[in-house]
Amino acid sequence: MRSLVAGNWKMNGLAASLAELAALKETLAAQPPACDVLVCPPATLIAQANWHVKGSFALGGQDCHAKPSGAFTGDVSAEMLKDAGASYVIVGHSERRQYHKETDADVAAKAQAAWRAGLKAIICVGETESQRVAGEHNHVCDGQVRASVPDGATAENTVVAYEPVWAIGTGKTPTSADIIAMHAHLRASLVSCLGEAGKGMLILYGGSVKPDNANEILNLPEVGGALVGGASLKAAEFHKIIAGLTRT
Ligand code: PEP
Repeated sequence: MRSLVAGNWKMNGLAASLAELAALKETLAAQPPACDVLVCPPATLIAQANWHVKGSFALGGQDCHAKPSGAFTGDVSAEMLKDAGASYVIVGHSERRQYHKETDADVAAKAQAAWRAGLKAIICVGETESQRVAGEHNHVCDGQVRASVPDGATAENTVVAYEPVWAIGTGKTPTSADIIAMHAHLRASLVSCLGEAGKGMLILYGGSVKPDNANEILNLPEVGGALVGGASLKAAEFHKIIAGLTRT
């Protein structure tokens, strides 16, 4: 499975931001990446982005509703994301878990909705700072994997992203040793839950990945790529991260 570097624009980006996607497309054409590349802009931009990007890299949503359609004002279904041109959707991002009170069961239902629509689900897990300080990080992430990654998950339909909450948008990152230890722990959890299917599934690292730490983080064992927030907004910065992944 090729590694994946994914950008999460969060609630940032207007039509003018499509220029960044056009710039990324040009840079990737000139310097083909050693990994798959994905950008998850706001849902409002996916259809226009699809027109600009023309398959040069993948597009994804940042969340979806579990149902395909219905009376859910303001929500977006996985089918709608697919229709707009997405091939991935992030589910269970810590900002959704925190601000929208999403539970592991909600996240699992959204992952199944993604599969139903033909999207690949990026399922996020990660401990808070107090859980890390209390030494509960392995237990917390193991529980999130068991309850948020549904049966039927395979390397073809699912990616897991380890995103320590305290590292998101803070400039703080775990040590390389801590990332290696957590990714090995998550791999063991996935194999224990899913058997063979858990062996090849990509596990991304997310949390303050920047051009200056990307090379070290992305080439650690069991790190199958990165989920990048702030540093994915500008094509030049995001491309430096993509170029940091030297292992396919
Ligand atoms: C994220 O939003 O998933 C993320 C990792 O953000 P940042 O890279 O800005 O820490």
